[in-house]
Amino acid sequence: MVSDATTRIQRVRDQLATLDTDLLLVGPSADLRWLVGYHALALERLTLLLVPADGEPTLVTPRLETPRAQQAGVADHARIVDYGETDDPIALVAKLVGPVHGAVAVQDRLWTAFTLALQQALDVSEWRPGSDVLGPLRLVKDAEEIAALHAVGAAIDEVHAQVPQWLRPGRTEREVGRDIAEAIREHHHEVNFVIVASGPNGASPHHETGDRVLQEGDAVVVDIGGTMDGYCSDETRNYVLGIADPAYAALHETLETAQQAAVEVAGPGVTAEAVDAAARGLLTEHGYGEQFLHRTGHGIGVEEHEAPWIVAGNDQVLTAGMAFSIEPGIYVRDTHGARIEDIVVVTEDGVDSCNHRPRHLVEVQP
Ligand code: ZN
Ligand code: ZN
Ligand code: ZN
Repeated sequence: MVSDATTRIQRVRDQLATLDTDLLLVGPSADLRWLVGYHALALERLTLLLVPADGEPTLVTPRLETPRAQQAGVADHARIVDYGETDDPIALVAKLVGPVHGAVAVQDRLWTAFTLALQQALDVSEWRPGSDVLGPLRLVKDAEEIAALHAVGAAIDEVHAQVPQWLRPGRTEREVGRDIAEAIREHHHEVNFVIVASGPNGASPHHETGDRVLQEGDAVVVDIGGTMDGYCSDETRNYVLGIADPAYAALHETLETAQQAAVEVAGPGVTAEAVDAAARGLLTEHGYGEQFLHRTGHGIGVEEHEAPWIVAGNDQVLTAGMAFSIEPGIYVRDTHGARIEDIVVVTEDGVDSCNHRPRHLVEVQP
């Protein structure tokens, strides 16, 4: 990732010029990781990367964090200016920036306390969100990022392949979740989240894995994700302990068709909302419209959830290199739920899936 930083900084500069903006300020965030490969800690002490439209980038960092910044290779791409415990970092930034009269972009997730102080200290005619600058750049993945998404997708596939062995009546969701988390770590991932939603818990899309004891006949929604080499995975499959209830099997078959319909529609030149409509239209036709509670998907990259949002009202036209989930679900309150989720990357003529596990319902035999 760091090898790309020079190119990425240049792309930021070009974008600043296009937007007639003098400077971008980036605090600890996925944006900073994406830009210079530095996983800075979000602390009460300010860490801030200054990227001017012209001139060298500067990282302002608390002195005690300087070794971490250096270890991450920041010095290859930016000058490092550190400050001591009794120094005023806002005054330091103001001095480095000098008199600015144009627009300045501030990364969207910089803490309000810092943003307000910077607004006091700098003489700026217009403040704008950093996503104006970084959003379009992060939206379209380059070849290296796409390769990373495929690699992390293959790794999470391997974890899903192991899931049936852990699903046994009498075990709790939490016990199963622990086995899954361990497997994610074994496949060189950091664990981002593990959802094991059994029986009626499956009806809650973001169910918190808990103490419910798995029972024969339960449907179990397993939605898991991790990070490998800075890029995220996210994959959902549905399992049944024993033989599926016919109503659930029918629901799942419809869901498979809906997921497939959205994958087939997705591609360059198509809007994000058209992908949502493909899945939603099919589920609505089969009477499940009300039970599909959420958007069809979200973008993914250095963050688990990022643009593009695959949702009604988003007329963003998809182009090659965009990566997102396609994850329709059906949630029957107090009864059961199901969701099928793959990550896809838009190609020149359609999409490539990063996940290759079979999408059908897996009946786990004891
Ligand atoms: Zn989610
Ligand atoms: Zn998911
Ligand atoms: Zn997802």
